[in-house]
Amino acid sequence: MTFMESFMHEHAVCWLNGRIVPLDEARLSVFDHGLLYGDGVFEGIRFYHRRPFRLEAHLERLFDSARAICLDIPTTHAALAAAVLETIAASTLEDGYLRVVATRGVGPLGIDPSRCANPGLFIIADQLRMIDSETRERGARLIIAATRRLPPDGLDPRIKSLNYLNHILARIEANQAGADEAILLNAAGRVAEGTADNVFIVRRGKLLTTPPVEGALAGITREVVLDLAREAGIAAEEIALAPYDLYTADECFLTGTGAELIPVAEIDGRSLRACPGPVFRDLASRFQRLVAA
Ligand code: PMP
Repeated sequence: MTFMESFMHEHAVCWLNGRIVPLDEARLSVFDHGLLYGDGVFEGIRFYHRRPFRLEAHLERLFDSARAICLDIPTTHAALAAAVLETIAASTLEDGYLRVVATRGVGPLGIDPSRCANPGLFIIADQLRMIDSETRERGARLIIAATRRLPPDGLDPRIKSLNYLNHILARIEANQAGADEAILLNAAGRVAEGTADNVFIVRRGKLLTTPPVEGALAGITREVVLDLAREAGIAAEEIALAPYDLYTADECFLTGTGAELIPVAEIDGRSLRACPGPVFRDLASRFQRLVAA
């Protein structure tokens, strides 16, 4: 079984450039630079009990990503928050996933973004099942991809851009190896992140995760897990990790908006000592309580 994202569009709702539109009108131009060049930024946001989880943090990251690529999101932070709530209200789902996307907009062929006058903005609400429940229970099997994370001096990992090809190449490696997910290393051979998630390990009771400067997205779920660890009295440290640290960890798990918390059973054929381990179980149940609250 692969680590699949499967969308069931029958529940999908779309807000496009200012209003909820029928799905067959939820279309962009073939001249949108978001499509032609991956020129745009996005967020994935979960909603639980019809309320968006960590909306402020996601919108802040979206506006920062946009600022970093000189893209003027054609609305205010407050109006976009209202649009997110409007999209949830239009959805019939109790729990779901939102994709907020800002694209450079329509322009002539040629990469120059200054020739795109009107950035596009849309929000999709749908279901997201990133991993099947069987994999979630037995734990994910990971490989370390040969594809390296793009260096931060090429594309800062804090920009959540529409360019995922680097991660897609790693994901293809996982698929071809029959694994559930791939870990990307940075150019120095240290652990960066998963294809759409951050990586944690537990070593002698201590929680360790890669700092963003190593090539990880500053994940919002990662931040929530670090907060939950603090609350639980679990020592945590952001520190550079090598494949060795993953292979010899007591526990390993992945975090992300889509992934939520996924325990890892195996990395490159090495079985982890515990899956799900006690630290994972503690943090996962705290996470469940938090999103249920
Ligand atoms: N890394 C990458 C490359 C991602 O796409 C994601 C998913 N947004 C994450 C990490 C996890 O981040 P978050 O917890 O904010 O969803």
